Amino acid sequence: MSELYRSLPAVDRVLAELAEHPELAGVPRSLLKDLVNAFLELRRADIRAGRIAAPEDLAMERLLPDLTAFVRAGAGPHFRRVLNATGVVVHTNLGRSLLADEAVRAVEDACRNYSNLEFDLATGKRGSRYSHVEELLRRLTGAESALVVNNNAAAVLLTLSTLTAGKEVVISRGQLVEIGGSFRIPDVMARSGAVLREVGATNRTHLADYERALNENTGALMRVHTSNFRVVGFTKEVALTELRGLADKHGLPLIEDLGSGALIRLPGLEGEPLVQEVVREGADVVTFSGDKVLGGPQAGIIVGRAEYLDRIKKNPMNRALRIDKMTLAALEATLRLCLDPERALETVPTLRMIASPFETLKSQAGRLARLLRAELRGLAEVATRRDMSRVGGGAFPEKDLPTVLAEVRPLHLSVESLREALLRTDPPLVGRVENDAFCLDPRTLRPDEHPLVARALRAALQQ
Ligand SMILES: *Cc1c(COP(=O)(O)O)cnc(C)c1O
Repeated sequence: MSELYRSLPAVDRVLAELAEHPELAGVPRSLLKDLVNAFLELRRADIRAGRIAAPEDLAMERLLPDLTAFVRAGAGPHFRRVLNATGVVVHTNLGRSLLADEAVRAVEDACRNYSNLEFDLATGKRGSRYSHVEELLRRLTGAESALVVNNNAAAVLLTLSTLTAGKEVVISRGQLVEIGGSFRIPDVMARSGAVLREVGATNRTHLADYERALNENTGALMRVHTSNFRVVGFTKEVALTELRGLADKHGLPLIEDLGSGALIRLPGLEGEPLVQEVVREGADVVTFSGDKVLGGPQAGIIVGRAEYLDRIKKNPMNRALRIDKMTLAALEATLRLCLDPERALETVPTLRMIASPFETLKSQAGRLARLLRAELRGLAEVATRRDMSRVGGGAFPEKDLPTVLAEVRPLHLSVESLREALLRTDPPLVGRVENDAFCLDPRTLRPDEHPLVARALRAALQQ
């Protein structure tokens, strides 16, 4: 074994060898040295564990392919592009919404150059960063006033902490949702200083339940969109218009956490309320995400009556939750596209993917399958199958969108090993393992990504 240890090349020799590799030229020397040491340490562990028993396996030329891959992986960016073949459009773990080209250009402009972020070009004096989107949001939603914060969780927290701290907020038991990533309505409410007053039963809540819960310390009525689950069977929730009447009678604000917040009617999601409908039906304050089915950057949007929004804007917590200029740039560009819904359905990727017609997906799956059959000959079998895609992002769990998948069945590898190997390709490819196959949904892949998908699969199947 000590002979084996001695066969390992010395760090300096490895560094001299790597200096010949132009693709590693940009790696800072200290980082390179640490990575080489880490790689050699892994080989020592292999020797200890008996995984390496022959000295020739430790020769420089034998180690080199793994070593360069290890260094490239360790020195490259940690935050990387991934190919999403899952068919989940708003995939929280894979970055939620992709931005429209216009939004990407706006972000680049805002980052490269100085801007009128908080500068009023009409007066030459200090301006408000929210002015760039407030008029657009008023126009799109019909609300009197608008504010944008870091995400929808922040929007809910800020709204409750401003309007209802120390007071009771009446909410239906059926709407005490957990969104994931530890966002739970009861916990957020507690943090805001509001006191949760839950009414009704899990499956049924009536107007009278809300009415009975009111007292001199009631601060608001609240509704929460049950984004990621559905109660079926013997159920009832109270309509917004009914709650409006109750709120008026008692002079209380009516708050709606809409979650996804669609501004445009999407095929397949016809039953979902649009933000402008909720505003019209009488919600005083509506909160929603910028990067779910709005298709913009991560943001939390608050719209509603000016008397409440003015108070929310003045809350010092607002400063801690404010959005940066990149978000503003992307959001303004996305909202501008939404002014023309037909154009938005073509240019905003999230909207385009959700609205993809079945026939388009079918022909894309057919083309992808043909490409894969040619590229993976002798390595895998390829077929197509009808299935469903998901909107995702905790949005609309019951809404399945029909699609056609390309299925890859490896000939010399288990499907599970293929799935794992695809996490290490460049770029990594994430899909679904179902039906004893690795499945690719064309809904979340652009056709220009198909060659990358083929290359990743080929690399993973050949290893
Ligand atoms: C997604 C969601 C949230 C959290 O929104 P983020 O933008 O992820 O912070 C809050 N409430 C509901 C109902 C949601 O669906």
